[in-house]
Amino acid sequence: MHELKDLYQEVIVDHNRSPRNFGKLAGANRVLEGYNPLCGDRLTLYLNVKDNKIENITFDGSGCAISVASASLMTETIKGKSTGEAEGIFHSFHDMVTTDSGEPDFDKMGKLVAIAGVRDYPTRVKCATLCWHTLHSIIQGERASVSTE
Ligand code: ZN
Repeated sequence: MHELKDLYQEVIVDHNRSPRNFGKLAGANRVLEGYNPLCGDRLTLYLNVKDNKIENITFDGSGCAISVASASLMTETIKGKSTGEAEGIFHSFHDMVTTDSGEPDFDKMGKLVAIAGVRDYPTRVKCATLCWHTLHSIIQGERASVSTE
């Protein structure tokens, strides 16, 4: 249980118990499901994008605490940002969880630093980045697909 103890910081526990922006988004014009077969995390993102601005973003689905907390934190961070800004944050986040050196930069990353601990657990990195890869795919223009589960 050491892994859980180290990872499940207060912010992660809170966002897993009470995920922000959770549920389908009425009027979403971009929808994409992301799946992490290693862990079984399955999350769908709903975005309303207008003039390259992410006016609203929600998610639903189910997954482990890390994947849900990461998605919750991501929606809080990304809502209202331009797609270009969101891409920049995606790359910064990806670097943060895949790079071993250095303290996470709170000024730059804000609450997202709560997820930084996953970099010590390679299998968990995929849980934390699932929502971000899905967001990246949406911004890159992959065709919207709706979950058919
Ligand atoms: Zn997971």
